[in-house]
Amino acid sequence: MAFLYDTVMGYGCVAHNCLNHTENKDAARVVHFHQFPFENADLTRKWVIATKIDGLIAKKSHRLCSDHFTRDDYIFSNSTRLKPNAVPSVFSFPPHLLKKPMKKRKNPCEHYHQLQNDNELQKGKEGNVPPEKK
Ligand SMILES: [Zn+2]
Repeated sequence: MAFLYDTVMGYGCVAHNCLNHTENKDAARVVHFHQFPFENADLTRKWVIATKIDGLIAKKSHRLCSDHFTRDDYIFSNSTRLKPNAVPSVFSFPPHLLKKPMKKRKNPCEHYHQLQNDNELQKGKEGNVPPEKK
C-alpha cells in the first residue's frame, strides 16, 4: 500500500482546523494521508499555497489528509491514489484567512520565495521550533 497508516510515529494533517491524525482515526470513514509531492517542486508549491499556512515549509513529515481533496482528485483503481497533478482545494480556514488580503498577492512564485527566505532565517535553530501541529 502506498499509504502510511500505521507508522511508528503516526502523522497528523497539517491543514488549518483539521484534527485528522493517523492515530486518531474515525472508524466510520477512511482518511488517507498524503505526503507533499516533493518530486514535483511546482506542485509542492501549489500545495503549500493552498493550505494558507503562514510560513509553511513542506517537510517529509507533513501530511495532508484526504479531506482536502475532491473526489475528482483521485484515481480509483486497486488502490486509491491522488492524480499526479492533484492540488488540495477543500479547507476550513480560520476567519482571519477568509478576509480579502490587504495587498493583492502579486505572484504566487514570489510568495513561495518569501517562504523560502523565511526558512533560511530559521536554519540552525530548527531543533527549537515546536512542531506546527500534532
Ligand atoms: Zn486534514
